[in-house]
Amino acid sequence: MQGIKLIRRPYAHINGAPKDFPSTTAIFNCTGPGSYHLGGVEDHKLYPSSGQVVLVAEPKIPIPRMYIRSRKRVDPNTTYVFPRPLGGGIILDGCQQDGNWDGEVDLEFAEDIKKRCCALCSEIGRGGSSGY
Ligand SMILES: Cc1cc2nc3c(=O)[nH]c(=O)nc-3n(C[C@H](O)[C@H](O)[C@H](O)COP(=O)(O)OP(=O)(O)OC[C@H]3O[C@@H](n4cnc5c(N)ncnc54)[C@H](O)[C@@H]3O)c2cc1C
Repeated sequence: MQGIKLIRRPYAHINGAPKDFPSTTAIFNCTGPGSYHLGGVEDHKLYPSSGQVVLVAEPKIPIPRMYIRSRKRVDPNTTYVFPRPLGGGIILDGCQQDGNWDGEVDLEFAEDIKKRCCALCSEIGRGGSSGY
């Protein structure tokens, strides 16, 4: 981006950036769930919607399409298999857990994702530790 300097910095308050950069004329708040705690914003109507994906290597014969199974538009157990282009592996998902603030990876849940994705798309294997 020509002429634009990107700076990554945590702020406790929305007024922190203009204090650091007095020539600031506009602020766009794009902090996502961070707006819950960001001073001067503290949007407590906001809640997180947590997701987790697993990236696996592509099988020898690439998968030609994507698969998705969802009982409704927003489903905590939505399952999908998305092949990435240029041999970039396959994304397995997933979940959508409203209200979950925990940013840690849940390895047990990752196994559940793999099991569901294998049931949906047999081309990726049978699941389990030796099934990929
Ligand atoms: C289960 C699930 C599946 C999804 N699937 C898709 C999909 O397939 N395709 C799609 O397009 N979207 C998808 N989304 C939505 C997508 O993930 C979000 O819309 C997107 O990440 C929002 O981007 P953002 O930049 O607005 O916010 P975020 O990605 O939340 O970025 C906010 C940034 O602000 C920073 N920040 C927060 N607080 C502060 C602070 N006080 N000071 C400084 N920095 C701060 C954070 O560090 C972070 O870098 C999915 C979401 C879920 C939950």
